[in-house]
Amino acid sequence: MPLTPMDIYKLLPKTNCKKCGEQTCMSFAFKLLNREKKIEDCKPLFEEKRYEKQKEKILEILKPLEKATETGLVVNDELCVGCGNCVVVCPIHVEKDPYGMAIGNGPNIDNPILRVENGKVKVCNLSICRRYGKNRILCVVCRENCPSNAISFLEG
Ligand code: SF4
Ligand code: SF4
Ligand code: SF4
Repeated sequence: MPLTPMDIYKLLPKTNCKKCGEQTCMSFAFKLLNREKKIEDCKPLFEEKRYEKQKEKILEILKPLEKATETGLVVNDELCVGCGNCVVVCPIHVEKDPYGMAIGNGPNIDNPILRVENGKVKVCNLSICRRYGKNRILCVVCRENCPSNAISFLEG
C-alpha cells in the first residue's frame, strides 16, 4: 500500500503551530511525501517528550522514503528479471531516440533514465524523468509495463 499524506498526518502533533513553515500539519504531510520538507522540520515532534511515541512510529513508516529516488521510483531488485521493458517503453527514451526504439535497440542516448546492467534494471539519470522536479507529471509507464511488478512509486 503506498504511503498517503493521511498516514503521516495522523502521527503529527496536529496543532498547526506553523513552526515547520507550513500553515497546517496536513500541508506539511503533503510536502513531506513530495520530499519538499524533511520530518526534522517538525520541531515539536523532536523536541517535545509527549510526541516521542508518535515520532518513533512516523520514522518507521517513513523508512521506504529513504530508499526511493527523488521521483519516488523504487525498483525491487529481487523481482526485476532484467527484461528491459521499462527501458523500451519510457516515453522520454522514445522521444530522444525514436528510431532506435522502434527497431528494438533500446535508447541510443548518452544517459538514459533506466538501463539494464547485469540482469537488473538500474536507475541512472532521474533528472530527465517526467516525475522529476517541480513541473513533474506522475508518469507510470515503466511501472505499468513491468511484467514482474518490480517498479513502484511512493505515491501515484
Ligand atoms: S511544525 Fe509540526 S506540529 Fe507544527 S504545523 Fe508543522 S507539522 Fe504541524
Ligand atoms: S516514470 Fe515515466 S519518464 Fe520516468 S522512468 Fe518511468 S516511464 Fe520513464
Ligand atoms: S520491466 Fe520490470 S523486470 Fe523488466 S527490467 Fe524493468 S524493472 Fe526489471
